[in-house]
Amino acid sequence: MNKKKVGTTKKVAAERTYKRPSWVDSAEEELCPDCFKVVGSRSRYQLVCLLGKAKEGMTVTELTAELELQQPTITHHLNVLRSVDAVASIDSGRERIYSLNRDAHCFDECKIPY
Ligand SMILES: [Zn+2]
Repeated sequence: MNKKKVGTTKKVAAERTYKRPSWVDSAEEELCPDCFKVVGSRSRYQLVCLLGKAKEGMTVTELTAELELQQPTITHHLNVLRSVDAVASIDSGRERIYSLNRDAHCFDECKIPY
């Protein structure tokens, strides 16, 4: 395949890229390591899509109710997403509310849809 990447000056261009997983409907065929962290696991990408629809954010309890995963698994995925700034969290009373960081480079620069 003839790859044409004219004019893209991604700051991670020198790093290796990863093939876009089939469950991500993006125009990009290759993903940078950060983006691959975000969507490389299907469960993680499902979390991103859920949070993308939740304007007010969601708690781990709510996310666990939506996905057929254990709460520790959800928390692990959220921590990975936080490590690349894809999600932010705020503490509200006893709850922690997670929300999508829509300005994260994965969604903005690399155009991961959510
Ligand atoms: Zn990226």
